[in-house]
Amino acid sequence: MFKVFASRLGKKYLYESTTNNIFEADDESLATLDASEGETPLLRRLGDDFYSQFFAGAENAKLSSLRDDMLPDEGSSPEILVLELTQQCNFRCEYCIYSGNYLFERTHNDIRMNEDDIERICDEFFGSERHPDYVSFYGGEPLLGFELIRRLCDNLDASGIRPKYSITTNGSLLLRDGVLPFLIEHDFHINMSYDGLNHDRYRLMTSGAATSGVVMKALETIAGVDEDFFASNVTISATLAPPYLLLDNYHHFSQHRLLSRLGVSVNLVNEGDNSFMDGFDLSEERDMLAKDVRCLADEYISCEGPVPKFLVSLFANSALRIDDREMGLQSHAYPPGQCDVGSHRLFVTATGEKYTCERVGNYGCLGHLGEDEKDIAAYERVIGDMSDYFDRHCRRCHLVRVCDMCCSALRRGSTLKDDELASQECEDRRRWYDMIFYVFLSRKELGKGMFGD
Ligand code: SF4
Ligand code: SF4
Repeated sequence: MFKVFASRLGKKYLYESTTNNIFEADDESLATLDASEGETPLLRRLGDDFYSQFFAGAENAKLSSLRDDMLPDEGSSPEILVLELTQQCNFRCEYCIYSGNYLFERTHNDIRMNEDDIERICDEFFGSERHPDYVSFYGGEPLLGFELIRRLCDNLDASGIRPKYSITTNGSLLLRDGVLPFLIEHDFHINMSYDGLNHDRYRLMTSGAATSGVVMKALETIAGVDEDFFASNVTISATLAPPYLLLDNYHHFSQHRLLSRLGVSVNLVNEGDNSFMDGFDLSEERDMLAKDVRCLADEYISCEGPVPKFLVSLFANSALRIDDREMGLQSHAYPPGQCDVGSHRLFVTATGEKYTCERVGNYGCLGHLGEDEKDIAAYERVIGDMSDYFDRHCRRCHLVRVCDMCCSALRRGSTLKDDELASQECEDRRRWYDMIFYVFLSRKELGKGMFGD
C-alpha cells in the first residue's frame, strides 16, 4: 500500500508500507502509478504475490506466528505493572471515563485494594528475578491509597528491589503529610492532570468546586522543594474537551512560568461511546481544531533551536514512529500499536482482575491476583481477537506499520465487529497521520530533527 504526501515546500513523497520506505517522487513518476493514494491494480497484484511468496500462500501466516510469539511463558513478568489501587476519587470530572457517561467502563465507587492484595502483588510479581521494571499507580485517585503505595515500596526496599515508580494523579493530595518527600525519595515520575484553559470547566471536586488552584499549588510546592526533581520527574497530562482552544492552550502552556518547563501529553476526550460529547457541535469543533493543528504544525516546522515542549508532545511523539521506522520486509506490520498482551504491560484492578492495560474497559480478563498459574487460554483469546480485529481493518491500510491504534479498541467486546465505529476511528487516525507525515517531511527538508535537534 502507498500514499503520496506533500511537504510544505510542495515536494511530493511516496510512502510505501510494505518496505516502510519513503521515496521522493516527481509528478511524472507519480503519474505512472496511476493513482495518488491507495493501490493501483498493479500494486495490489504485486502485493498479493508478495504475501504469497513470503508467507507461503497463507494470508495470516504472519499473524499465526505472531500469536505464538506473543504468548507469555509461565515464569515471565510484565515489564510495566499498572496497579489500580482504588476506584475511589475525590474529583468528579465531567468527562471522566468513570462518570457513568461511558459505555464499557465502570463507574466511581468505593472499591479499593487492601494490604493483603499488596502482599500478593509483591509475592506474585517480585518473588523472582524476572520482575517488572516499572510500577505505575493508578486510580481513581491513587493517593487516596497512599498507605498501600508506602507498603509496596517499603516491601520492595526491604528486598533490595527498586523498580521505576510512576503515579497518575489529580494532584490534590500531593501536599498531604509525608506524601511528597516519600515520592521524591523514591524517585517517582509524577504525571499530573491539568487541562489548561478549560480546567475549571470540567475538572471539579465532588463538591463542585474548581480544582486548578490545588494543582497549581502542588506544582509550585514541588518546584520550590526540589527544582531538579520538578524539571525531570513531573509531567502534565492535559485532556481537552470542547471548546478545545488548542492554539490558546499552546500559548497558555508555553508562556506559563512553571508549565513551560514540563512535558505535556495532550489527549482529546473520545468522541465515541459516551454521552458527554452529545451536547457539542462536533463538526464545528473539529474544523476549529483542524485549523489550530495546522497552525501549530507550521509553527513547529519553522521552529529554530529548542522546540516548546507542548509542540514536541503534540507532534514529535507520533512522528517518532515514522522517524525511527524499521524498513524492510513486513516483519512487524501486525498489529499496529504496542500491545503485547500482558507481557509488556499488565493492569491489575482494585478487584484483583488482570487486563492487558487500563484502557480496555472490562474486555479480556487475563486472570486474577493470587492465582497459582497463568490462564494461558485467556491470553490466547485476547491475542486471537486482537489479531482478527487488526487483520480485518488494517491489512490493506497504508498506515499499518506506523499507526498507534492499540487493543483498547477491543473494549467494545461483543460489538467488536462494529465496522462503523472502527472506520470513524481510522478516519481520525488517517487525518492525524497525514499531518504527521507533512510535519516530518517538512522538517526533514529543512534539515531539522523531530525534537528540535
Ligand atoms: S481525577 Fe481522574 S479518576 Fe477522578 S474524576 Fe477526574 S478523570 Fe476521573
Ligand atoms: S488507521 Fe485503522 S485500518 Fe489503518 S492501520 Fe490504523 S487501525 Fe488499522
